[in-house]
Amino acid sequence: MTALSTLKTFSKPLLASLNKLGISQLQALLLHLPLRYIDETHITVVRDLRLGEAALAEGEIVHMEVTYKPRKALIARLEDASGQLTLRFLHFYPSQIAMLKEGSHLRVYGEVRHGYFGYEMVHPTCKKVGEKAEVAETLTPVYPTVAGLTQASLRKAISIALVHNGLHETLPASVYAKLNLPSFAASLKALHHPPPDADLRALENKSTLEWQRLAFDELLAQQLSMRKHYARRRSVNAPAFAPSKKLVSSLLKSLPFALTQAQQKVAVEIERDLTQHHPMQRLLQGDVGSGKTIVACMAALQAIENGWQVALMAPTEILAEQHYQKMLGWLTPLNISIAWLTGSQTKKEREAALQAIAQGYAQMVVGTHALFQEAVQFKKLGLAIIDEQHRFGVQQRLALRKKGEPEPHQLMMSATPIPRTLSMSYYADLDVSVIDELPPGRTPIVTKLVSDERREEILQRVREACLAGSQAYWVCPLIEESEALQLATANDTYALMLSEFPELKIGLIHGRMKSAEKQAVMAQFSANALQLLVATTVIEVGVDVPNASLMVIEHAERMGLSQLHQLRGRVGRGATKSTCILLYQNKLSETARARLKVIYESNDGFAIAQADLNLRGPGEYLGTRQSGVPMLKIADLNRDADLLQAAKNCADDLIQQYPAAVEKHLERWLASAADLVKV
Ligand code: ADP
Ligand code: MG
Repeated sequence: MTALSTLKTFSKPLLASLNKLGISQLQALLLHLPLRYIDETHITVVRDLRLGEAALAEGEIVHMEVTYKPRKALIARLEDASGQLTLRFLHFYPSQIAMLKEGSHLRVYGEVRHGYFGYEMVHPTCKKVGEKAEVAETLTPVYPTVAGLTQASLRKAISIALVHNGLHETLPASVYAKLNLPSFAASLKALHHPPPDADLRALENKSTLEWQRLAFDELLAQQLSMRKHYARRRSVNAPAFAPSKKLVSSLLKSLPFALTQAQQKVAVEIERDLTQHHPMQRLLQGDVGSGKTIVACMAALQAIENGWQVALMAPTEILAEQHYQKMLGWLTPLNISIAWLTGSQTKKEREAALQAIAQGYAQMVVGTHALFQEAVQFKKLGLAIIDEQHRFGVQQRLALRKKGEPEPHQLMMSATPIPRTLSMSYYADLDVSVIDELPPGRTPIVTKLVSDERREEILQRVREACLAGSQAYWVCPLIEESEALQLATANDTYALMLSEFPELKIGLIHGRMKSAEKQAVMAQFSANALQLLVATTVIEVGVDVPNASLMVIEHAERMGLSQLHQLRGRVGRGATKSTCILLYQNKLSETARARLKVIYESNDGFAIAQADLNLRGPGEYLGTRQSGVPMLKIADLNRDADLLQAAKNCADDLIQQYPAAVEKHLERWLASAADLVKV
C-alpha cells in the first residue's frame, strides 16, 4: 500500500483536503471516480449551439454591463464568426468583471438556454485563452469534492496518481476476460479520462464496460471480505451443545399446536449449528406471525439442557415483556428459572436479577438493550438470541457476544425480510434460515385503502367491531419532524376517541410513557379490559393480542412499506377475520399511491420489502450493517444484480485457485473503503 503522504508531489494542504474526502492512500485516490463529465474536447461555434445541451464556445467579448433590472446581473456578449451568445451572472466578483471586459478572448463552458436576446449561458465557467489555444484531449471529469479543494487540483492530483504504478491487475486475466470486461488499468484510465468520442450518457449511468469492471471488482471484494469474516468465525471456539433429549420434547408436548413444516426445518438447521464448536451466526427470517419465538425457545432449551445460559434480547420494553411472559408460560413448567432485565426496574429488582445472572441461577435472561450493559455479567452465556435484529446496531450485538467465554452462539430474528440481492451481498457472512409458511388456521388480513373523507364510516366500523366483542387498534400518524408533535397528536386522537365512543373502554400507548405504564396498558389490552387501543408506532414490532382483529392506520402514506406490513401484522393473529384500514389524506402523490398499492395488493413480506428497496434504496436495511461491511460505492444492487451473481461465483473460484489474487484484491479495495471497521 502506498500512502499519499510518501509522494513528494503532494503538498500538506492538498493531503489535508484529500483526507477530508477519506482519501489517504494512492489506491483510494485512484478509485475516487467522477460524478459526471464535461466535454471540452471541441469548440462549438455559436450558430451550432443546441438548446439544453452543455457546450464549449469561444470568442471575443464585445459588450459587458452590470444591470439592476429586474435584478442585479452581469451580462456580457461573446461573439465568434457565426454569431453572438449572452453570458449571464447573478452573483459575481470584481475579478469576473475584469475577465469579461470588452476585447477579452474567452473560452466558456455551460448549458445553453433561451434568454432575452437569443441563446445564453448562465454562470458558465470562463477561461482566458490565446487565439490558438488547444482543446482538451479527453472528456473532463467532475469529481465529488469538499470545500477548499478545487476540481482543478483534484484533477491534477488524480492525473499524477495515474502515472504512479498503482494500476496493477489483481485478477487473473481469464477471470475478467470470461465476463468480457476490460483490464483494471484500462478501465481506470478510461473512467478518469474518457476519449472524446465516449458515450456520455452511458458513462453517466455507469453502464460502460469500464464502470462494469469496477463494479464487479467492488462486489467481488465485498464477497471475499464476507467469506473471510465467515472463515474467521469458523476458526473461533464456541461451546458445542448436544441435541436436547428431554426439554425440547417436553415443551412441544405442552403446546396447544404442532410446529409447521417450515418451523421444523429451521429448528433442525439451528439445532445442528449449536452442536458445532464454532459460534453460530444465523439469521432467522419469517414474516410477522410465522412463529419465530417458539423456534428460538427450542434453541434456548438445547443450550440450557447442556448447562449454559441464554439471553433473549428485544428492542422495546413492550416486546421484551411479552417475551418474558411467554417464556414464563413455556419454561416454568420445565423448572427453568428466568430473569428479567430492563432499564426501568427498581434498583433492588435489578440487583437481584444481576446477581442471579452472574451466579448462574438464571438460566434464561429476557430483556431489552439493558442486557448488554457492562454491569451484566453472565456466569456461562452460551446463546444470545436477538429479536428484530435490524433494530440493533452492530456494536450492540457485538457487546452481547462478548459476554460469553468462549464466544456464545448467536441467533438473530427478523420479520423484515431482506431482499435477495441484499442477503447475497451485505449479509453474505450470515447463515440464513427462513420460515416461509404461516401456521394454519389464520385468516388472511383484508387490507382496505380508504380516504380520510370517509372517517365517519370507519369510526362506525370500529364501534361495531368492539361492541361485537372484538378489539381494535387505532394507529396515530407518524410525525417524524417532532416527537412533541407526535405526542400531541396521540393525545388528541385519544381525547377524540373518548368523546366519540363513550360506551367503549379505550387505552392510549405511546413512546414517551414510562415502561411500567406501557406494560400496564398492554396487559389490560391483552386481558380484553380495553377494547380500543390508541397507539403510536410503538406497537409496530412483535405485539401479540390474538383477539384484536381491526386496525386503523392514519396517514398511512407517511409510513414505510415494511413498517406498514409490520403494523398490519398486529392483527390477523387469531381465528377471526381481520381487517386493516389504511386511511390516507386525499391528493396522494403518484409515488405515495404506488407504494400504498403495494401494501394493499400484497401480504407477502418479501415482496413488500423488495418493493420498498426499489422505491427507497437500501439505507433502511443497512443502518445496522454499515460498520461491519464495506459499503458499495460504485455497484448498485438493482442495476448490477448480474454482476453480483458473477462476483459470488468468482469469489469461490478465486479462493480455491488464486489465493494470492484474493489478498491483492482485498488490499486494493479494503484500503479504499474508508468506512470499513473491523468486526
Ligand atoms: P413472530 O414470528 O412474528 O415472532 P410469534 O412467534 O409471535 O410470531 O408467533 C405468533 C403466534 O403464533 C403466537 O401466538 C404463537 O404462539 C403462535 N404459533 C407459533 N407457531 C404456531 C404453530 N405452529 N401453530 C399455531 N400457532 C403457532
Ligand atoms: Mg416476534
